[in-house]
Amino acid sequence: MYENKNLLPDPAHKCSCYSAIMLFGFIFSKLSESEMSDRVRNHEKIHVAQYLECFILGFVLATFLIGYTCSLASLWLLLLPFSLYYILYLVEAGISFVHHFFAHSKKNAGRYGIAQRSAYLNSAIEMEAYDNETDFKYIEKRSWCAFIKYYGKL
Ligand SMILES: [Zn+2]
Repeated sequence: MYENKNLLPDPAHKCSCYSAIMLFGFIFSKLSESEMSDRVRNHEKIHVAQYLECFILGFVLATFLIGYTCSLASLWLLLLPFSLYYILYLVEAGISFVHHFFAHSKKNAGRYGIAQRSAYLNSAIEMEAYDNETDFKYIEKRSWCAFIKYYGKL
């Protein structure tokens, strides 16, 4: 079992709701720039780096596949750079949710919520972000696709 003390909630957060989210490489927040903690900002910047890496990987893969098939019908693959990050995220979260859901007894009424939270926290993408969100130099020193090393850890 993967254990990470950084997965504890940010004490600055009064609830478990989202204060910021990264969508398609852009950080959105209901907080102003000055209200957002450095920890949350760094967490979302790690997601931006991950998204950009997935974008590049998706672009290379789509270019190769479109060139290989030489068909206009494969132009839908141009969506791959924009969506690869979310595909990886959702596939892993789905597998993790099923694993955690069935790992708990049917008698546990809260197992749906536990599985949902575990799937989120045990995502490779989230594990890298939570592990390093307090290291404010991490973005500069992180290796290419560093989130890959978190795959397989639960
Ligand atoms: Zn995150």
